[in-house]
Amino acid sequence: MNIKSCKIINSPIEEKLFKSHNIYIKRDDLLSKEFSGNKARKFYYFLENEFPQIEKVISYGSSQSNAMYSLSVLAKMKEWKFDYYVDHLSSYLEENPHGNYKYALKNGMQIYVGRDAPIPTKNEVFVEEGGRQKEAEYGIKNLAKEILEWKEEQGIDELNVFLPSGTGTTALFLAKSFSVGMWASRPTVYTVPCVGDVEYLKKQFLMLEENENFHPKILTPSKKRHFGKLYRESYNIWLKLREEMGIEFDMLYDPHGWLTLLENPEILKKTTLYIHQGGLIGNESMLMRYKRKYGENI
Ligand SMILES: *Cc1c(COP(=O)(O)O)cnc(C)c1O
Repeated sequence: MNIKSCKIINSPIEEKLFKSHNIYIKRDDLLSKEFSGNKARKFYYFLENEFPQIEKVISYGSSQSNAMYSLSVLAKMKEWKFDYYVDHLSSYLEENPHGNYKYALKNGMQIYVGRDAPIPTKNEVFVEEGGRQKEAEYGIKNLAKEILEWKEEQGIDELNVFLPSGTGTTALFLAKSFSVGMWASRPTVYTVPCVGDVEYLKKQFLMLEENENFHPKILTPSKKRHFGKLYRESYNIWLKLREEMGIEFDMLYDPHGWLTLLENPEILKKTTLYIHQGGLIGNESMLMRYKRKYGENI
């Protein structure tokens, strides 16, 4: 595929059965091979609009972030330079590049370790960690529109939408997009924090939108799981999802998302749509870590 001709199209919605629950999956992982998942939605604004004076994108975050990889793709498509700032880079990763880090470097990312990102000049665009910024609303509105059109087509009266949150940007702008506009019945958006706790996620929502009527409903997980940490139950449900539905999910957010969703069967009593937010390139490094921790035959 010619990376420059990449266009975001409507992603499919598939009906599946998981642990005897009927559920629909919005396949944003299939948006396009290179530019997919919720980062494609969040950065769509930059892809679609012209920025004649911009030569470089600057961002910061972790060295295996999905957002970092997606920005490297965006930079390549826009013919921008890409400078990325990390607090720390493990010597293992430096010597054995893999996962998002490896592919972002291949796309021309320049990495800076242990220093603060500079203030951008007028020729540079600055992107917050994980794409938490108002420009994300632009692409997430499209996601909302696709879901609403599908809901109407299918004649679904009441719809629950579920997606796991990091910064909460996707869940927030999705819920907000459903709230504005004259819809007979609005889908209800449920989410669960994967980074930090419920209070942290609420604060993230408030930073992007003051009106709490537009906020998604936050589920409290029965168990605290630390972001990025490996859990056997997370690995097990990831395998089960693949086995039962034939879909590969992300290993960082989705296991915690599904485990929490299954703890709330009242949500699943109504028609439920789970949003697959991509992130599959990141699975390469997660799988390596799982294998190192539990051995080859986990
Ligand atoms: C980034 C990401 C998330 C979190 O998205 P937020 O908008 O930050 O809440 C969830 N799932 C996957 C696969 C991601 O890459």
